[in-house]
Amino acid sequence: MRSRTFNVTLLITIILIAFFFINSCSSGSGSGSAGTEPTVSPTGSPTVTPTTSPTISPTPSPTSSPGQFAKIYVYIHMHNEEPLEGIYPDFVNNEEEFKKHRAVLLPFVNMLKEENVMFNYQSDWNFLQAIAAFDSGEGTGGKNILKYIKDLGFEVDPHAHETSYNYADVAYLINQLGVPTSNTVGGFIAIPPEDSKIEYFQDPITGWNYDYTWQAEILWGAGSYHHTNDPFVSGVWCPKDNDNFYEHDPTKLPHIGGYNLGHKGVELLLEKSLSGELDPEKIYTIDIPLGQMNLLGGGFIEDQRRQIKNLKEMDTNGLLQWVGMKQVIEIWQQEYGSQPNLLLYTDE
Ligand SMILES: [Zn+2]
Repeated sequence: MRSRTFNVTLLITIILIAFFFINSCSSGSGSGSAGTEPTVSPTGSPTVTPTTSPTISPTPSPTSSPGQFAKIYVYIHMHNEEPLEGIYPDFVNNEEEFKKHRAVLLPFVNMLKEENVMFNYQSDWNFLQAIAAFDSGEGTGGKNILKYIKDLGFEVDPHAHETSYNYADVAYLINQLGVPTSNTVGGFIAIPPEDSKIEYFQDPITGWNYDYTWQAEILWGAGSYHHTNDPFVSGVWCPKDNDNFYEHDPTKLPHIGGYNLGHKGVELLLEKSLSGELDPEKIYTIDIPLGQMNLLGGGFIEDQRRQIKNLKEMDTNGLLQWVGMKQVIEIWQQEYGSQPNLLLYTDE
């Protein structure tokens, strides 16, 4: 099916992306060097001004329907990556490595369930193919690990660097494992405009490797090339086009912002909400980014549990809402009237 020109283009793309892809997951979650959360301050200042009024009265009238303080929608996501020699495993050709990852993924998702939080699991093609090849259903009642995660009530989304398998291919692989794929884009490039895939995702995508078509409905994880200028925004809006990422156009797909700093960022937003800086009638979102490699570090799962518990203890007003990405968009439509909101992270 693919033309020679396409193959050449693909090859060039693979070479160009080879280095880049290790770090290209939004918020750096896929880094092979793993284990740390991003602590970067924004390197660029987007030209948009936040639509949130910072001068909102901290004491709204008691008759207003939203609460006194703004709610904060927290989501946790995890990626695995494409293989890269010496840096990221090729699970398809390394059953032992696959089993190692599966063995830590299982207690991790069980912990999230026990702590009653939501989760977006976003896999690229290689790990999915390894599940199909090697997963024996051990410890999961015979289910493959992807189906097990889905059946816990979590969201399963495609994550594709699109070097050799595109979003439709990854969605196909998810379906093949007995899990209905979501229509959430699990990470993409939005900055700079010449690399942006905002417009690309507006139309259906046809698989390169499989006869399958997939349509994105939710954009998540906008990143910048080499993470040099990542957008650190809390809120939901519909990016207008490749040139106008921060501009809202209600006819386009919604994008969920991830703010910055993971757990620490949740604390920051909570403080802002309690001090009356956030508008209770607008939606605020934040990502806790995790990479699958992180799981291999000793004590990681219990450390995550502790951090989740800490945040819940801190949240005495019940402002933190632990949700999946698809749930964020449903809530945004139903409870916030699809009003756009962009709160830019600033390194104060
Ligand atoms: Zn990735």
